[in-house]
Amino acid sequence: MLDGGHFTSAAGIWRSGEDLDRQVRFPIPVYLIETATERILIDTGLHPGAAADAESHYGGAESLRAFRLEMDAGIDEQVDLNTVTKVVLTHLHFDHAGGLALLPPSLPVFIQRREWEAARDRAAIARNFYLPRDYEAISERVIAIDGDHDLLGDGAVRLLLTPGHTPGHQSVQVGERLVIGGDVTHFASGLDDHRLPIFGDDLDAQRASAERLRALRDAGADVRPGHDPAVLRVGPLAIPPSPVD
Ligand SMILES: [Zn+2]
Repeated sequence: MLDGGHFTSAAGIWRSGEDLDRQVRFPIPVYLIETATERILIDTGLHPGAAADAESHYGGAESLRAFRLEMDAGIDEQVDLNTVTKVVLTHLHFDHAGGLALLPPSLPVFIQRREWEAARDRAAIARNFYLPRDYEAISERVIAIDGDHDLLGDGAVRLLLTPGHTPGHQSVQVGERLVIGGDVTHFASGLDDHRLPIFGDDLDAQRASAERLRALRDAGADVRPGHDPAVLRVGPLAIPPSPVD
């Protein structure tokens, strides 16, 4: 897990029932999956320009009023981005897609087709707080995925369609025992209590996606939440062997 920056915002926006006056600093995780032949980046974190000055970088976007954005270093200072072979985006919000600008321009970017379509539809852009500046430059190299997908063809890395937070949100399963949940739930406890953010494209679908990830967790997987400050720590993740290994 790499550090893709932080955002500070009211707790009550991100977990229903929390205090709207209490500010919480949320980590923005980026993951690098290494195999014998691949280095796959899962999400890209903040754009450094947004972290330095969100107002001017995004032209004073209304949807960013509730945030303070910051980062200690760009992801490019922690990993040689020229060695990345594929990029997977869980979804296209600014804290996941902003760092695309740091990556070599030839890299394929794997996104669910329904996410990509929503991100180019005026009404869906407004409803989902997408900031097109984050992803305008990648349209030639998007690989649109329809539903669950075996990314490498060997079952090692699987993309799971987990919609709700956004129309085409996806999670990433690595082996049997690690799941990068993305923003299906911001907090680990959300899998059980369904206290979701107070906004979302389809909260019923998001609850169903949370149930899907909860079942994987109950079967023994480490399901990584989207932005839980108590859980997310930068560093290598151990993948426990699956029971059948
Ligand atoms: Zn997020």
